Amino acid sequence: AEEPASGKTYQIGTDVTFAPFEFQDASGKFVGIDMDLLDAIAKDQNFKYEIKPLGFNAAVQALEANQVDGVIAGMSITDERKQKFDFSDPYFDSGVVMAIRQDQESIKSYEDLRGKKVAVKTGTEGYSFAESISSKYGFTIVPFDDSAQMYDDVKTGNSVACFDDFPVLAYGVKQNNGLKIVTDMEPGASYGFAVSKGRNQELLQKFNAGLINLKASGEYDRIKEKYIGENA
Ligand code: GLN
Repeated sequence: AEEPASGKTYQIGTDVTFAPFEFQDASGKFVGIDMDLLDAIAKDQNFKYEIKPLGFNAAVQALEANQVDGVIAGMSITDERKQKFDFSDPYFDSGVVMAIRQDQESIKSYEDLRGKKVAVKTGTEGYSFAESISSKYGFTIVPFDDSAQMYDDVKTGNSVACFDDFPVLAYGVKQNNGLKIVTDMEPGASYGFAVSKGRNQELLQKFNAGLINLKASGEYDRIKEKYIGENA
């Protein structure tokens, strides 16, 4: 292979676990739609990178502090984040849903949350959404650093529900994670690859150029299908 134009190895922050976008396979390797997409784009655009699985909130903060060059973590392209970050073209549509324990029947809507606890992940759109309706529906927010801890809090019964992205919860439910989705998806923002505002523009342009090439070649669809099947 050709040597990268700059010898630079980009440091890319990501979540610790956010299947099917980033998660560890049986051998401990980070795989998923984001991981495969970045890998294919780096090959197409001839750049080197290193994955830093910091956790979602920590990755976003590391990007803001310029401790990493980019973040790919199922990160929603929101207006608020656009103040601090430049995003690639959107690569996956998403939005927030509510999930409860699989064997529960009592929580069917936001109205049923009154007086109860709801688990969320710090720094996420799920958290922001829960916060935006918590006083109206009278529930308490219990924050966690990663999705696994958040789901466990619902499974042990400490929290009655959690809010997370639809594609992630739908994948988890299919993998028998012990939860079920009980609401329609709230309108949400698509995922994008992020760099700090005004920095690493070359990397951002390469990501966008690579994404166009992967869509044209069918590789983008193959990556999606590998993790979520044809109806994704
Ligand atoms: N899409 C959500 C957000 O950007 C959650 C991302 C995540 O938890 N990795 O806030």
